[in-house]
Amino acid sequence: MAVFGGTFDPVHYGHLRSAVEVRDALQLQTVKLVPSYQPPHREAPGSSAEQRLDMVRIAARESGFLEVDDREIRRGGKSFMIDTLRSIRRDIGDAAPLVLVLGDDAFALLETWHEWRSLLEVAHIAVLARPGSHVDENLSTELANLVSRRLVERPLCLHSKPGGQICILRLTQLDISSTRIREMLGKGESVAYLMPSEVLTYITEHGLYASTST
Ligand code: ATP
Repeated sequence: MAVFGGTFDPVHYGHLRSAVEVRDALQLQTVKLVPSYQPPHREAPGSSAEQRLDMVRIAARESGFLEVDDREIRRGGKSFMIDTLRSIRRDIGDAAPLVLVLGDDAFALLETWHEWRSLLEVAHIAVLARPGSHVDENLSTELANLVSRRLVERPLCLHSKPGGQICILRLTQLDISSTRIREMLGKGESVAYLMPSEVLTYITEHGLYASTST
C-alpha cells in the first residue's frame, strides 16, 4: 500500500502520472491519495478541503487503481502525516508493507515534520527524484546519514518488511505544480491538458482560483 499525501490545490497530471509510476515501480494494486485538511507547512489553500477532496475524487474516478482517502479531512485540525500513517497502519495490520511517497523537495524538509523520526517506524519512504537531481545533495547531515543507513537499491525490496527503509524512484516528472496552475488561472490563462478536463470543469463551475478561462 502506498500513500501519496498532498494539498492537491488543485490535483494535476504531475500528481497523477507519479502515482501511476509508483504503482508500477512498486508493483502495487492501489495507491492512496490523501488530501490534507490543514497542511502544517503552508498558507491556507485556495479552495476548501471539501472542494480539494471533490477534485481528487473526480481525478481518481476512472483510474481503476487510485483510492481516495479522506481521513485527514474527516479528522480536521492540522494534518500530520505521522497520525495518518498510524491510522492506516491500524487498518492494515502490523505486517503489511506501507510506503509513504514524497517528492524530493518534501523529503529535504522532512526534519520539519511533526515526529519525523517516527515516520520510518510506521512506513517506508519512497522519494520521487526529479530528473538529474541528486537527492542526497540537498540534505542535512542527519538526513543524509539516515538515507545511507536505510537506503535500498531495488524498490521491490520494500515488500520484504512493513517499513523502515528508503528507496529513491526516478520517474517521469512533469514540470507542473499547483502553484503555477493557480497563478495561470488567476491571470485568466488556460490550464487545459495540465489536469483532467473534468477537474477543470469543476474549477470553472465553482469559480475557484478566480478562474475565468478553460
Ligand atoms: P504547490 O505548488 O501548491 O506546492 P504541488 O503541485 O507541489 O503544490 P502538493 O499537493 O503540494 O502539489 O504535492 C503533493 C505531492 O506531490 C508532494 O509529495 C509533491 O512533491 C508531489 N508533486 C507535486 N507536483 C509534482 C509533479 N509535477 N511531479 C511529481 N510529483 C509532484
